Amino acid sequence: MQAQEKVIQIAGSITVDELAQALGLSVTTLIGQLFKEGIVATINQRLDYDTASIIVDELGLTGVRLEKKNSSTQISNQRRELSDRAVERPPVVAVMGHVDHGKTTLLDTLLNKKTVEGEAGGITQHISAYQLKHDDRMITFLDTPGHEAFAAIRQHGAMLTDIVVIVVAADDGVKPQTVEAIKFAQGANAKIIVAINKIDREGADVQRTMADLSQHGLQPEEWGGDITMVPISAKRGDNLDKLLDMILLTADLEELKADVDIPSEGLVIESHMEVGKGSVVNLLVTGGELKTGEFIVAGNTYGKIRTMLDWKGKPKGKATPSTPVTVTGFKELPNFGDRFIEAKDEKTARKLALLNANASADAAANANVTSGDLLRMMNVADNSKVFNVLIKGDVLGSVTSVVDSLKMIDTKGEVTLNIVATGVGDVTENDVYMATGENTVIYGFNVSVPVNISKMAARDNVPIKCYKVIYELLDDAKSEMEDLLDAEIVEEDAGEMKVKGVFRTERTSIIAGGEVLKGICKAGLLAKVVRNKQEIGEVEVESVQKEKIAVNELVAGETGGLALKTEHKIQLEIGDRLKFFTRELRKKKL
Ligand code: GDP
Repeated sequence: MQAQEKVIQIAGSITVDELAQALGLSVTTLIGQLFKEGIVATINQRLDYDTASIIVDELGLTGVRLEKKNSSTQISNQRRELSDRAVERPPVVAVMGHVDHGKTTLLDTLLNKKTVEGEAGGITQHISAYQLKHDDRMITFLDTPGHEAFAAIRQHGAMLTDIVVIVVAADDGVKPQTVEAIKFAQGANAKIIVAINKIDREGADVQRTMADLSQHGLQPEEWGGDITMVPISAKRGDNLDKLLDMILLTADLEELKADVDIPSEGLVIESHMEVGKGSVVNLLVTGGELKTGEFIVAGNTYGKIRTMLDWKGKPKGKATPSTPVTVTGFKELPNFGDRFIEAKDEKTARKLALLNANASADAAANANVTSGDLLRMMNVADNSKVFNVLIKGDVLGSVTSVVDSLKMIDTKGEVTLNIVATGVGDVTENDVYMATGENTVIYGFNVSVPVNISKMAARDNVPIKCYKVIYELLDDAKSEMEDLLDAEIVEEDAGEMKVKGVFRTERTSIIAGGEVLKGICKAGLLAKVVRNKQEIGEVEVESVQKEKIAVNELVAGETGGLALKTEHKIQLEIGDRLKFFTRELRKKKL
């Protein structure tokens, strides 16, 4: 029976991830194939129909046909196209910045200032999101769960934050995590507002901080740039209204809208189990209106919303876009960053969850297991050398790309690649700390290394290597791995001589003559002395003569004299064979 052909429809373009899934291949395999074709691709990179066709051809897959599709009805993870009935929604704001620059203080002060009416009085537990009212308009704040987690959400294709407020202490300036936050915000396509904090402090210098920021690509509006910078004191509360004004102004310029007359959808921003309640899940609604009693699916789990509370813990019957809520009713815990959607009934919800589960099981089954991975899994990496790396890249995509490409270096099982950690942003103190004492190389791709960090790394003997071209990075990694291999001794035959006369024998030297039977004989070569097919010693050729005149070499058929060096006395005899060879200690190649 003829197997049915699989048709993959491509409307305009398809991401590497989607194509890999459609082909039933691991992303690594696909990236590998693209790499062979000279395309350095990341998981989220979009390929046009032609490129995808070439790759599918090269892969030699049978039973797969690509088809150009004109209208785009694909289910997409991206924020949906808005209808003309879309309504205004509150901005979703994340506060980021270097440790101790005042993020927590800012959020706390805002919370107290704006909710003094006693509303927030009893909130002591950790909340992942909350809303404030300013000028009678709502603003949703997300408590940043760490940049890594945000990057994970971005990878799911959803845009979570509209605006990132970057907090920089005016007495400390731009620090590594400030740069990380800037990169994150830029990568997430969020609008940036800078809060220059701690202006009440002695030593605070707003102008210098602005100059510092402009060095990092953020040009203050005041200087003709496009980044709003608001000097504040999070502690005293100075200028916080101005900061909120700016947030709303930015939101207005962005015309943030959402459809409400569609099935509800959004993102999981936190989830945990609670005794007596079961799964407690925090959701951020991004479209539609979420109501109690609805069936929703997130990842491979689903549930009927049993209870829904607003961020203050008050029951809520209905949640509109940009609203964070806490719900119970999920059968199992969904993951942070999972997208949720409403299903029309329980049967549909169950089916969708199952489909998602199968898709992720397939992805796991297709995961590319390298010989190194296998060795590690089997825990028999006894004589395999381990190459530890820590990878930093400018965006998550490049990190993934570097990791995937590194995994594809074939070490024939001799070197195990161990990825200690990966991250987005410049090399930090913590990275160096993690790499210390572990014989680890830090690779930076399109990132830089602050001077103090490179000093610290030099002191701790941690190599940091930064590249802008992936091939160069891979070449270096390969050579590093080759360095780990024990060098091998390589011997190569050069020629053979039959001894026809022995003129002098000292303890460590011999003068003899003979005829070259094959190959050559020249100074510097080593020779095995063979008698009756038995090797009886080893000598080194010191010089060669032909008719008493020094020559460079003798070739097959020629007769000449040799001065030989020995370690121990060897009594050479007529009829012995000298088998010339070279011996080298050679670095093994991968
Ligand atoms: P986070 O690590 O960014 O969350 O920083 P925190 O909010 O914990 O603040 C770190 C320290 O700076 C704390 O001791 C705060 O009291 C202090 N701080 C924060 N904002 C200000 C401010 O505007 N002025 C002054 N003088 N201190 C501040």
